[in-house]
Formats: sequence, C-alpha cells, structure tokens
Amino acid sequence: MTDGFHVLVDALKLNGINTIYGVAGIPITDLLRLAQAEGIRYIGFRHEQNAGNAAAIAGFLTQKPGLCMTVSGPGFLNGLVALANATTNCFPMILMSGSSDRAIIDLQQGDYEELDQLAAARPFAKAAYRINRPQDIGIGLARAIHAAVSGRPGGVYLDITAETLGAVLDTDTAAKSLFRPVDPAPRQMPESIAVRRASELLRGAQRPLILLGKGAAYAQCDAEIRALVENTGIPFLPMSMAKGLLPDNHQLSAAAARSYVLGNADVVMLVGARLNWLLSHGKQPLWSESTQYIQLDIDPHEIDSNRPIAAPLVGDIRSSVEALLQELPRGSVHVSPTWIQAIAERKAKNMEKMAQRLSANPSPMNFSSALGAVRKVVSDWPDAYVVNEGANALDFTRNIVDMSLPRHRLDSGTWGIMGIGMGYAIAAAVETGKPVVAIEGDSAFGFSGMEVETICRYQLPVAIVILNNSGIYRGDTGDGPPSPTGFVRDARYDKMMEAFGGRGYHATTPQELEEALAQAMKSGRPTLINAVIDPTAGTESGHIQALNPKSALQK
Ligand code: ADP
Ligand code: MG
Repeated sequence: MTDGFHVLVDALKLNGINTIYGVAGIPITDLLRLAQAEGIRYIGFRHEQNAGNAAAIAGFLTQKPGLCMTVSGPGFLNGLVALANATTNCFPMILMSGSSDRAIIDLQQGDYEELDQLAAARPFAKAAYRINRPQDIGIGLARAIHAAVSGRPGGVYLDITAETLGAVLDTDTAAKSLFRPVDPAPRQMPESIAVRRASELLRGAQRPLILLGKGAAYAQCDAEIRALVENTGIPFLPMSMAKGLLPDNHQLSAAAARSYVLGNADVVMLVGARLNWLLSHGKQPLWSESTQYIQLDIDPHEIDSNRPIAAPLVGDIRSSVEALLQELPRGSVHVSPTWIQAIAERKAKNMEKMAQRLSANPSPMNFSSALGAVRKVVSDWPDAYVVNEGANALDFTRNIVDMSLPRHRLDSGTWGIMGIGMGYAIAAAVETGKPVVAIEGDSAFGFSGMEVETICRYQLPVAIVILNNSGIYRGDTGDGPPSPTGFVRDARYDKMMEAFGGRGYHATTPQELEEALAQAMKSGRPTLINAVIDPTAGTESGHIQALNPKSALQK
C-alpha cells in the first residue's frame, strides 16, 4: 500500500517539478519532508506571498510551472496574492495548498483554518482544481500543468485536502494513475494570411517600430527575435522585462528616444506586449492617432483590447517570428533613413543628459548618482540577474541600469507592485545559480524584507541595494508625527542582514556604494547595502503621479 503523500511526490518527480517554494505547517509539513527526502529541492520562506512570487518568477525563467506549497486558510490567502500577480503577468505557476476537512468547511462548522479555498482562488487564477482522492493526483497535476503553461501562461490553484494526503491506496493503482502530459505547451502556428497581412504592413511602413514585451522574453526565441530586428533594420523598444532580449546598447535600440518613437512611429509591431496602462493604452498624447499596429500574441482575446489592431498575428511568438522571418528577407523592409537619423539624434541628446546626471555627486546621494555606481558594477557582471522594485527606485533603475542578456531583469511587472523583491531574487538565484542584484526602494523592500533570513539560510549569492530615502516616494524632513509616507529616518537596513550572518554595508557616497557592491558580487555571499539617499529626492508616485485621483474641486 501507499498513500497520498507518496503519490504526490512521485507525481511531481515524474513531471520534472524539482523545486518547491513554500512555508511549512499543517497539513503539508510531512509532505515537504518526504519531498526533500526524495530529492526535490525545498526552499522554505517566511511568508507565503514571497514563496508564491518565487514560484511565479521561476515559471517565467524556465517555462515550467513554478510550484508554491502553503498551509490552509490564511497561509493560502497569503499565497493567493502571488497567484493573482502571476496570472496578471502571464507567468506559469501552481499554488498548491493543503485544505481542511471538506465536510466541516461545507457546513461552516468552524474548522482549524477553515476556508473554502477553491472558491476563493477561482477569480484570481487562470484555472482552479481540487484533488479529493489519492488516485486523482496524477490527473489533477496534469490538469494544473496544462492550464499553467498552455496558451497564455498563468497561475493555477490546486487544492489538496488533508484527507487525500493521508488516504491509502494500493501501489499498483497508484503507479497506473501517474503519467507525464504530452506537449503541455503546444506551438500555435499563426495563419499564413495573417503573416502576409503583417508583412505587407511592415513593407509599406516608413517609420516602423518593434515593441518587445515580456511575452517575447518568455518565449525563449531570442535568436529569432534578434534576427527579425537586425534583418529588417527596424528600431526596437523593450518593455522593462524585455530589456536584454537585445542588449540595451544595441544600435537599433530606441529606448533612449522612447516618447519620440511612440509618438511618431507609423507602424508598430507589438511582440508579446499589451497596450495596457504601461503603454498609455495606445492613446494620445503619447501615441499618434494614425499609428497602425501589428500585434503578436498567443491570446486572441488580447487583440483590439485598447485600440484597433490592423494586423493581428495570433500564435506563439516563436512560430510567428519564424513565419515573419520567412516573409521578410533582408532588404524587404525600407526603413526611412530620416527616421533612423531622428532617433539617433534624440538618443544622443538624452544620453548626454543622462551622463551628466549620473556623474553629478550631490551629498547626500540622489537616485541618479547612486545608480550611476550600481550601473558600473552590473555592467561588469552581465550574467547577474537584476531584480527591481519601488517607485522612484524602479523608474530610475529601469532607465539607468542597462541589461545585456534576455530575461535578466525581473521587476514590478504588469501591476507595478511592491513586494516581489526577495521572492524573485531568491528564485532567480536558486533556478539559475547566477548572482542576483536586487535594487530596492526602502518601502518596496519592507514588503518582503524578512526573507533576508531565507537568503542567509540557503547562502544565496544575492546582493540587495536599498535606495533608502526614508519613506514611500520620499522621506519626512520636518518635525511632527510621521506623515503617511515617512519612515524612521537614518534606518540601518544593513543591520538586518548582519542579524542573520550576511554582510551589511552602509554607503553614503557613490564610491562607497560601488566598492561595496563590487565586493558583494565577488564574494557571492548574502549582502545588503544601505545606500543613503536624500529624503527629498524622489517624486510622489514616481513617473505615474497622474494616476493619483484629484478632486474635481481642485481642477
Ligand atoms: P509587457 O508588460 O512587457 O508589455 P505583457 O505582460 O503586458 O508584457 O504582455 C505579454 C503578452 O505576451 C501577453 O498578452 C501574453 O498573452 C503574451 N504571451 C506570453 N507568452 C507568449 C508566447 N509564448 N507566445 C505569444 N504570446 C505570448
Ligand atoms: Mg523610499
């Protein structure tokens, strides 16, 4: 005989799910012990949201669903935030939570951590299932994997009852119930008529632009995307998590001329990018009314979501880009030389301005001067992963710190949220074995800061840089009680890292910051650098101040 615990661990192993991110407790503790004993890597966190974020970004990096396991009730709810974020960002993950006794839950008789988890998860997940019998574990996991990675990837909730884990069944039935799904993320070929329509539009364009999103990064067809850009000679603009798909210093990068190209392109090809708030919904004044769009996306529902799309190309990005490469041999697209020239001029001007800001040396540091130091060290470690969150810390880093490899920048993403930092940093280190630099606003860091213990426990090569301006957006400077956005002044986040045996630095100048970060990277040890930023540096809400509601009375 065997039991649900063993069957589930066998099912995970059979499906190549070799890492579990989670927090132990009733009813999954023995399950985690068994998984670890059976060779599955278990990374235990201090809060389920961070474990869930780790699983989600593992999914983005590997194209396999990242797995997060939590306890029932509130532990599940903590993980649910990460599941919702994964779904929003199109990252494949599975949140598997143990749940209490169904008979008691369904009559609301008040069980330990009682919650109808399946119902709670549904609105936030791409799909949600419950496994009620040990013989259904194989099918349940297969359904979760298919749902997570097929089509537009997303977060899947898998409820596993305590009863199922403990239930016994004979080994023969168990063995027969397990299998590995065939081709769970099948290619989806675009229609040839759609490919021709898109190609024709590009061939007729004067001022074309390729806009790369994180869907393009996820697709892992980096060489094909690069060939498409270089063969056609079309300037490209990366969304933040598509940075590095082609290196930021590539000649055809229009990143330093962003608003100019968005406002003036006549044909824009969206490759795995959505026309959501991050792109001003494709609306004026950022965009021109006459821009025509080509959109490569796997999800047909995405087309026309904000503006009419002249040439939708529905399919997986690899297949669509390969098809376009066939239709568009070198020399078939005639990019206007004046367009290239105008972009080059803007780029040169903006880069000159940026260089001035980076080399200024105000005391205390501001975001630019601090990031000027960080930028240098990151460029010495091109294979390091950069995790980035905050408001000003996000806006400035995105523009200042260049990326040269695909999928190496992991950030606040589609929701523009705080709290992903340590979860993403831990998973990036665990999944890739490469060093990680987490560039964090002091407020952003607070949402997952307790995970420095996790980083120290597993001795991960994570260097955290806190751009510490003592507050949300900026710090308080006057006397009086703390404002809604102010934190403790002169806080020493570096001591948090030291509390768990990691290395802490306190940096007040760009030079100190650069030396500390270079040292951290060389050591490969858990490090936290508290970079002191002027509390008056930073703007309310960063670049998205306009999203704050204004009373009609003030207008
Ligand atoms: P960004 O924020 O970088 O603009 P989004 O997350 O908004 O990126 O958009 C990513 C898009 O990519 C989504 O619409 C998603 O459906 C699509 N997508 C994700 N993976 C693939 C894939 N393999 N092939 C095609 N489209 C994909
Ligand atoms: Mg701050």
